[in-house]
Amino acid sequence: MNPESLLSRIRVVLCRPSHPGNIGAVARAMKTMGLSSLYLVQPKQFPDPEADTRATGAVDLLEKAKITASLAEALAGSVFAVALSARQRDLGPAIGQPRETVARLLAEAEHGDVALVFGNETVGLSNEEILHCQAAVTIPTNPDFSSLNLGSAVQVLCYECRMAAFSERPPVAGQGVTPFVSPTASLDEVEGLFGHLESVMTDTGFFNPAQPGRLMPKLRRMFGRVRLEKDEINILRGILASTQVKTGHGRKD
Ligand code: SAH
Repeated sequence: MNPESLLSRIRVVLCRPSHPGNIGAVARAMKTMGLSSLYLVQPKQFPDPEADTRATGAVDLLEKAKITASLAEALAGSVFAVALSARQRDLGPAIGQPRETVARLLAEAEHGDVALVFGNETVGLSNEEILHCQAAVTIPTNPDFSSLNLGSAVQVLCYECRMAAFSERPPVAGQGVTPFVSPTASLDEVEGLFGHLESVMTDTGFFNPAQPGRLMPKLRRMFGRVRLEKDEINILRGILASTQVKTGHGRKD
């Protein structure tokens, strides 16, 4: 299944979110990573202008968000659910790492919808909610300060989902349209630059061919660190040619 379809099968389920601003931040976090299916279990305040504000360009996800009365209802029709929890609970599935658990989530997504289940801002997920999930994840954090903002926790997981769905190489905005790029110079063009440099430096007296020292090897080493482009060779040689016009030493090659 292609990456976009896999991502479209991932539901983000927020259990009893208190702050509409966080719901908006979650929508934005999801849309930036290519997820679109948002479920809200008993949201305290939704819809709300604060949610729209924080969602900015992701209001479409809020508009089609599904509001349910229970987590069971939000999970209906899905095949696998992962609980996100800042701390280990006595009950519930063993806690795993985000990356390996997301790999499992995507494998399950081949069979149907899957869910990432997040808790309330103050109290997190209830034990009962965690027991609806088949896996659990804690995002590794500073042990002394382990609770992420809800929107941030969603962002981390959605990023992992995107990376995994695209096998670590998701397409990037603006890719392949690097401005000003010109083809790589061929080695004979680079040699032409060295010859031109040597001739100008000889004309100006900076370089003495009878006592060459390390000047040319040093310059070769310096340019060797750069993958010169054709345009750059042309610019450098244009600069050199302009000094030759001034000094009256024309060069023909
Ligand atoms: N005080 C709550 C945390 C609430 S943060 C608690 O101790 O459980 C809101 C939600 O964000 C959490 O329920 C969880 O789903 C998610 N979250 C925040 N920090 C997390 C972390 N380090 N790992 C996994 N999920 C986290």
